[in-house]
Amino acid sequence: MNPPKTTLWISPEILSKLMYYAWSVDAEVGGYGRLSFDEEENDIFIEDVFIVKQEVCQTECTLSKEGLSELFEEFIANGEEDKIGEVTLWWHSHKDMAAFFSGTDDECMRTWPGKYVVSLVINRKMEMKASLMTKTPLLIVGDIDVRIDWLDVPNREKIEEDIEKKVIETKTVIPIKNKQQELMHNYAFNTAKGKSFHDMTDDEWAKVEKELDKDEEKFWEKYVDEYLEEDFKM
Ligand SMILES: [Zn+2]
Repeated sequence: MNPPKTTLWISPEILSKLMYYAWSVDAEVGGYGRLSFDEEENDIFIEDVFIVKQEVCQTECTLSKEGLSELFEEFIANGEEDKIGEVTLWWHSHKDMAAFFSGTDDECMRTWPGKYVVSLVINRKMEMKASLMTKTPLLIVGDIDVRIDWLDVPNREKIEEDIEKKVIETKTVIPIKNKQQELMHNYAFNTAKGKSFHDMTDDEWAKVEKELDKDEEKFWEKYVDEYLEEDFKM
């Protein structure tokens, strides 16, 4: 049985916030986030990310317990107690270093106080890696996909409307319906030095037609052979 695939989805807005933290602090930096779950798709969404009080250096960021309780107190003060239980994302930036989970990071995941945690490591180049740890019924840690939901862009309808109004896709070739048309097209293309027969003037096409009539049988033989040869190459 193939296990269902799990993706951690990041909106462009959350991504900007993460990148802002990563580029504004000249060291590692990290924090927490709120998650929501799509049980049908087996996917995870980041609802928000935030930082807490922490000591940072080039290779580590130590989030303080005091910082986390301050965050929870803030939720309570705003009447958002229910958000506390949604804080199950732990993220940090590796600044310019590769995005991977170090031994210290693994230890952090394993010692997470809750029953599960989604971990996200990023860097300034927008490289990302995500992992899910669960303690129920046994400890399991596994990598999950992480993707940016580029469709979740502000004013998406306006952008789509703009594209619809202003972008015209030009057709270079009229769809070829059968083999004979394709052969003719190829022949004409070669004869008229790279010009598609759809783009030819009447005179040019008349010239090609004349050529075609000259030795039609020989022409078809040659081109059918070449065509088949090409087909069976695969
Ligand atoms: Zn790390």
